[in-house]
Amino acid sequence: MLIDPFQRKISYVRVSVTDRCDFRCTYCMSEDMEFLPKKDVLSLEELDRLCNTFIDLGVKKLRITGGEPLVRKNALSLFEQLGKDLNKTNLKELTLTTNGNNLEKYADQLFESGVRRINISLDTLKPKIFKTITRKDNFDSVLRGIEKAKKAGLSIKINTVALRGINDGEFDDFIRWCGINKFTLTLIETMPMGEVDSDRRKTFLPLSEVYEDLKKRWTLEELKDNTGGPARYKLVKELNTKLGLITPMSHNFCMDCNRVRLSCTGKLYMCLGQNDSVDLKAIA
Ligand code: SAM
Ligand code: SF4
Repeated sequence: MLIDPFQRKISYVRVSVTDRCDFRCTYCMSEDMEFLPKKDVLSLEELDRLCNTFIDLGVKKLRITGGEPLVRKNALSLFEQLGKDLNKTNLKELTLTTNGNNLEKYADQLFESGVRRINISLDTLKPKIFKTITRKDNFDSVLRGIEKAKKAGLSIKINTVALRGINDGEFDDFIRWCGINKFTLTLIETMPMGEVDSDRRKTFLPLSEVYEDLKKRWTLEELKDNTGGPARYKLVKELNTKLGLITPMSHNFCMDCNRVRLSCTGKLYMCLGQNDSVDLKAIA
């Protein structure tokens, strides 16, 4: 069993399979990104071996992420391999976080591999603002990807980073849209991670402020769900929709967190907010 120095049992690992991405979200990357040389990135076989070791050590949930996981060549073969472990080993859930741009192509295959729930990041329902945030013109492609994922039978959680002055007028629309489509919505505060061109402080929006505002129009009931992730959940009674709030900056959640992160170069990080890591590449 993986147990950290605080005696927390680690049952959830986020695995980054690439640092590359087809978008350049302003809060995540600079426009002119320099990515890692491919030789430094773990092969899919190494990733599979490390994931299997985590599973042997009691990990129940694996989330594949990036960069953008679906831009990695043959990423689907990793899902196929890991999907074979589902319910025959400790592994109970295989999932991913994606920007949705390649979902139209891959949603069916993901479902066939055993993926049942996915997180899709979408920060705006307006094509123009989408281009401002992601620096790409792919709004329609993401919406088609979401539609395809829904049709494929995947249960969907929408991740929306709250950005002051950019998407702060859209949260009611997001709640309605998610309610109609039966998606869970999770709002996220921006964190000081990654090298960006802009000053993130200018668009930082504390979710305590968003929550106080939403309460004026929606009945938000506390939910006790703990998915092992950092979100606290409310039920939007009017639409029977779940609303998650991830507040790393304004309200910390460390004591309930049971997940660690493996970077695409094989570094195991105990916490998103810390730089301490263990290098697993040598044994991968
Ligand atoms: N490319 C995929 C995506 O966008 O879903 C997966 C990787 S992305 C790093 C995972 C999540 O982190 C996305 O929901 C994204 O919005 C969020 N994210 C990225 N940079 C962030 C930051 N500085 N603060 C808060 N959330 C951030
Ligand atoms: Fe790419 Fe995801 Fe970062 Fe946006 S948030 S640039 S989609 S990795």
